[in-house]
Amino acid sequence: MLIVMHRKATPEQIDTIIESVGRMGLTAQPIPGSQRTAIGVLGNKGYVDDVNIRNLPGVKDVIHVTKPYKVVSRDFHPRSTIIRVGNIAIGEGKKPVVIAGPCAVESEEQIVSTALHVKKMGADFLRGGAFKPRTGPHTFQGLKKEGLKLLSLAKKQTGLPVVTEIISQENLEPVLKYSDILQVGARNMQNFELLKELGRIKKPVILKRGMSATIEEFLAAAEYIYSEGNHAVILCERGIRTFETATRNSLDLSVVPIIKELSHLPIIIDPSHATGKRVLVPPMAKAALVAGAHGVMVEVHPDPDKALSDGAQSLTFPGFEKMMEDINRITTFLGY
Ligand code: PEP
Ligand code: MN
Repeated sequence: MLIVMHRKATPEQIDTIIESVGRMGLTAQPIPGSQRTAIGVLGNKGYVDDVNIRNLPGVKDVIHVTKPYKVVSRDFHPRSTIIRVGNIAIGEGKKPVVIAGPCAVESEEQIVSTALHVKKMGADFLRGGAFKPRTGPHTFQGLKKEGLKLLSLAKKQTGLPVVTEIISQENLEPVLKYSDILQVGARNMQNFELLKELGRIKKPVILKRGMSATIEEFLAAAEYIYSEGNHAVILCERGIRTFETATRNSLDLSVVPIIKELSHLPIIIDPSHATGKRVLVPPMAKAALVAGAHGVMVEVHPDPDKALSDGAQSLTFPGFEKMMEDINRITTFLGY
């Protein structure tokens, strides 16, 4: 429920509302705006009877929020969230970030050479999976803890902060220790116990959209993390399942302006998993930035044909270099 106050509502009237909401066993969250204050009501499990609120002095309107998410919505938090990692800022008005690296960490040579290359070309983060959520059990499942150590080695050599995937609460401790941002993959977007656990950590989380999740379900999943107390949530579109077979998934770029309207959280695009094809990655990365994405995440491999996972969609080093040249032109054009 959202209580919208009159423009001339006094601080005392606002306090009275907050107290009344508290007496109902709920939490009131004031949302000051440029014209008027709104008060978000949290903690209810269903419809709230508003008779005791609607007629109080200073109240203009009471809006019942029927969406399955509140705290990640713009209604409850009009100002865009900016997430900081070291001196990098992710979010509205900030230069879009580039997260690059292999699908999976395979060896010291592979991850360090990739980190050095993407750093040289201007990437902001190194990505690489150590725990891999593969579709079938007979494929490479990642180097696990050894992979995390190799990521930290690559970080030491380049200074690049690390993004890596968490697939289960069991591995939270090592993943937390070796990463700067934790990634929740598409297959785990609705692993609610994992999301709640990540809501209690103090590091940012990239939440990828499930391959058959609606935008509402995507935001409801983000709500699990945010409402537990971790407000550093970055949404990531990575393509959804459609009837189309020419691409691995269908990249839903309209998600960028839609999410920006519905939510205050940053939204980035992963054109690698969205398309499944190397040649399609740079054009879709560029389109994502023009559409207003706060960053892109792409897979890069020193020798994609020999990659243990996702080689077909991984950029070569020269391919990444060319894409970065184009991205730099676009970000300059966009005014960064
Ligand atoms: C990945 O980023 O390597 C990955 C597994 O992506 P997704 O969860 O989007 O399939
Ligand atoms: Mn991958």
